[in-house]
Amino acid sequence: MGEAYKIQCLVPDLPSPQDIGPFLEEMHSARWYSNFGPLNKRFEFEIENFVPVIDGANKNTAVSFSSATTALEAVLSVLELAEGARVLVPTLTFPATATAVLNAGFTPVFCDVDPDHWDLSPALARKALSQTAVDAVMPVAVYGKPVDVRAWDEFSAETGLPVVVDAAAALGQQVAGKHVHLAFSLHATKPFSVGEGGLLLTPDTGVAERARSWSNFGFAGPGGVISRVGTNAKMGEFYAATGLAQLARWSTIKSRRARVLAMYKSALTKLDNEIQTQGAGDEFIPATFVINTGGRAKMVADRMAESGIHTRFWYLPPLYEHPALVSLAAGLDIDACFPETEKLKNSLIGLPFHSFLTQEEVNLVCSSLAEAL
Ligand SMILES: *Cc1c(COP(=O)(O)O)cnc(C)c1O
Repeated sequence: MGEAYKIQCLVPDLPSPQDIGPFLEEMHSARWYSNFGPLNKRFEFEIENFVPVIDGANKNTAVSFSSATTALEAVLSVLELAEGARVLVPTLTFPATATAVLNAGFTPVFCDVDPDHWDLSPALARKALSQTAVDAVMPVAVYGKPVDVRAWDEFSAETGLPVVVDAAAALGQQVAGKHVHLAFSLHATKPFSVGEGGLLLTPDTGVAERARSWSNFGFAGPGGVISRVGTNAKMGEFYAATGLAQLARWSTIKSRRARVLAMYKSALTKLDNEIQTQGAGDEFIPATFVINTGGRAKMVADRMAESGIHTRFWYLPPLYEHPALVSLAAGLDIDACFPETEKLKNSLIGLPFHSFLTQEEVNLVCSSLAEAL
């Protein structure tokens, strides 16, 4: 992927072997490599303290997984949704949001996204509910932008519907609440990266317990019997070791990324063209830095590539254009149902964004962007 590029779109920022070493020594001494070992337990405990909760909420329970995708499948599988349940998902997201619903045995129902924040908002979910029956809602922390947990807690309390947040790219920015369940990814492409891995953060200890059992084949109670059909989706001790080393580096990673974001913000304001970025608070540091080119994304990507700059069309095409998912939108008038997604799909482009970008490189990206536009 992209060796020919002078400026990479994404370079992971992981702990060094030296950082991970002490944890591996512990693992080696304990001779415990999987199945909820000591490092895994410690990582979960530290994550529970790492993810803040909104005022008035209790600390959520963390359960580790092999990926965000399996964490999402787990929570959907153990929420005791009705057979044939319909789960509202946004059209602009990584395909795993929808495949998790399908693999849990339910049906994704597509919802258009907000034109400024590019996400499925509580207001859009309420509108969808007035038009169709839905049994659960899955908002997404788009490009790592945390969802408004207070608003989703209210939504869940008011409608009685479970809310499962695909917060895959938002670990380190997303706060937890009283009702919503959060799934995070630790994949190499995420800001808080361990290589592979996932986490469920839930205020419901019953859901946490069942999801953990699901990740371990469905074993529950003594005697080695399964009480539900699960799978093997556990996080091993090697990954927990890397996770613990990464927790210790988080403030470094965060300040590196904040520095690059500040360089972009100042370089972009110097351009003649006004560049639309994702609507989010000033505190927000995106997982992937996506801009709106007003329908010129392909052209911008080509021009950038000529200058040796790698860009990515994150979360595109929209879910309803993936061959494996088109049937879910069969019979729908796409322009009428998803007008905002239709505008965004040829407009959004991810610029290079990672810990190691220099001022010079950011300037080059921005001048190349200005030329293309
Ligand atoms: C990265 C991502 C995923 C997948 O996470 P994995 O840990 O690789 O399974 C799912 N949803 C969204 C929104 C993502 O950004």
